[in-house]
Amino acid sequence: MQRRGIFGVPIRRVLLELRKLYHPPKTFLHFRTPLDLLIATILSAQCTDVRVNLVTRTILYPKYRTARDYLDVSRRGLERDIQTCGFYRTKAKNIQKMCQLLVTRFRGKVPQTVEELTELPGVGRKTAAIILSAAFGKNEGIACDTHVIRLSQRLGLTRHHDPKKIEIDLMRLLPRRQWGVINPLLISHGRAVCTARSRKCDLCVFQKECPSSLTMERKDLAQK
Ligand code: SF4
Repeated sequence: MQRRGIFGVPIRRVLLELRKLYHPPKTFLHFRTPLDLLIATILSAQCTDVRVNLVTRTILYPKYRTARDYLDVSRRGLERDIQTCGFYRTKAKNIQKMCQLLVTRFRGKVPQTVEELTELPGVGRKTAAIILSAAFGKNEGIACDTHVIRLSQRLGLTRHHDPKKIEIDLMRLLPRRQWGVINPLLISHGRAVCTARSRKCDLCVFQKECPSSLTMERKDLAQK
């Protein structure tokens, strides 16, 4: 049986086509360890992945490897290292608070459950799902960022606007083993074809069946 959103493209087709287009599905933030990914995710708020990757690769990763390393530097020093990522004061504060908790409560290791991860300052369900999937290969949820929300709505996989409800809709549609890949796949398509500002429906593989296809809308109007 085809699993289908309320009125949209069958989820199996969404997965099949996106896997062909964006292979292999991968996270956009570079990391070596789970801690790297946590730090990169904090830095990525209100900042491009390109900028974050530049800062982590050239400044942070050569200098910091453990949670203790981020505590051994002064707040001002850390702020200087990350200042091109924006909101650097808040981000430096959150990074050091998070690393303090990692050291005191988790022996410097990144925990592997949603409950423990969301105890960390600045880590919500979305970040926890990304860390668990990308760094530990555990599918405990689906990270619903702006691209995932937009694409899920346009493809007719959900009628909701609340990220938590969209996550539940996607979890119901997808087998658990696919929860981790849908996020990078939808982000890739959301960046390349179905962007917030312009939908390139004429070039999209879902053009014929997507309920939000502008091409279909234009044809409908022409027939009236
Ligand atoms: S057909 Fe258009 S609206 Fe639908 S997913 Fe593709 S680009 Fe987005």
